[in-house]
Amino acid sequence: MSIEQNLLSIKSTLPKQVTLVAVSKTKPVSDLMEAYEAGQCVFGENKIQEMVEKWEMMPKDIQWHMIGHVQTNKVKFMAPFVNLIHGVDSLKLLQEIDKQAKKNNRTIDCLLQIFVAEEETKFGLDEDELALLLSSTIFQGLKNIRVIGLMGMATFTANQNQIKKEFTHLKTIFDKLQVTKTTNCQLNTISMGMSGDYQLAIDCGSTMVRIGSSIFGGRK
Ligand SMILES: *Cc1c(COP(=O)(O)O)cnc(C)c1O
Repeated sequence: MSIEQNLLSIKSTLPKQVTLVAVSKTKPVSDLMEAYEAGQCVFGENKIQEMVEKWEMMPKDIQWHMIGHVQTNKVKFMAPFVNLIHGVDSLKLLQEIDKQAKKNNRTIDCLLQIFVAEEETKFGLDEDELALLLSSTIFQGLKNIRVIGLMGMATFTANQNQIKKEFTHLKTIFDKLQVTKTTNCQLNTISMGMSGDYQLAIDCGSTMVRIGSSIFGGRK
């Protein structure tokens, strides 16, 4: 199947409140253009340098999401254009995003990454760290970022019950935080679900799915 066919068939299964992020990491611009011409305007990349190169080459109405782990010293390269940073997992990183957003006269939307998996390899905050971050005066003073939701990744396993438990845990944390509404924190997005588990993620309350290989084919 072509990229266009893959995209249209996935889109036809998504409820209308769910945003599709086409994860295009490692793929050439020609593949992204095929998706763009089929109507896709949100792309996700996990390396800042690669995202910058693609942004320079592609139409300017594309929304770029950073879905990978972000190093503080590289935030400045994407600050002029990035639309959403999914993997924010520290106050230090938020402070740097705020600083770079300010330099560009922008407000940058962020998702806080929550650790819900059983694997030690996955990044993210636990519930206590999240509460501490949101209640800190440093966070409350950041004017050029906006936390609009949470992001999580399930354990890499075939066990659907395990995945479901982890997604449900993320949704529970999200729901509890609905009472926390400040100028720079208004949670309306849950980014969870990839090619292998997005339907389950949607059943568990996802509003944003990050799908790569089911659209563009496998990566090397
Ligand atoms: C690569 C990646 C995806 C997409 O994975 P697929 O299985 O190809 O859909 C989603 N989220 C993150 C954070 C990724 O790094």
